[in-house]
Amino acid sequence: MPATATPAPVAQNDRGEARAAAFLDRDGVINIDHGYVYRQEDFSFVPGVLDAAADLARMGYALVVVTNQSGIARGYYTEDDFHALAQWMGARFAEAGAPLAGVYHCPHHPDAGDGPLRRDCDCRKPAPGMLLAAARDLNLDLSRSALFGDKCDDLRAAQAAGVPLRVLLGKDGAAMPQDACPDEITSARHPSLAHALAAPTLRARLLRCGEPLLARAGAPGK
Ligand SMILES: [Mg+2]
Ligand SMILES: [Zn+2]
Repeated sequence: MPATATPAPVAQNDRGEARAAAFLDRDGVINIDHGYVYRQEDFSFVPGVLDAAADLARMGYALVVVTNQSGIARGYYTEDDFHALAQWMGARFAEAGAPLAGVYHCPHHPDAGDGPLRRDCDCRKPAPGMLLAAARDLNLDLSRSALFGDKCDDLRAAQAAGVPLRVLLGKDGAAMPQDACPDEITSARHPSLAHALAAPTLRARLLRCGEPLLARAGAPGK
């Protein structure tokens, strides 16, 4: 089975055109990566991430979370645990003016756990399955899309899906990225999503690829 998604609004504009997406990794990008987080009380947002996501939404990006959750294959928590937390997280994004178009997760692992989720799959990053499923489900234009992740595997998934703008972030937004990732895969490196959106060159590129609605309103960057 492909990645599973929580119900999502249709991510197309009023003219029915495919939208640019901002794909966000979860652990280490949205929330502090304590390891296998599945409870609300263990979920703390990386400072500034909700405001930054709202900024992306205003630029016209459909916000799509793509997250490896091998803790499910490992038996640490269940699909229901994941969905309950995703629903709560989505409500916080919506309150912040950054409604999520979709949340996709991979529950598999190739060699951990002992159930049916222990297998090779096409959705565990660095495979592109979650991004490709989102593009089909939500009418996304991958060629105008961006991904923000704290591991090179996040960026490799984006590359394999044809997402051109791939930003490596520092784990938990605390410092410059530590994960090694070749320059040809990495568009830019920043400590956090908020830092990335404040960088003039990257911001200009994001504005160019975002929803034309913003350009029609006379915003800079087009
Ligand atoms: Mg991560
Ligand atoms: Zn998978």
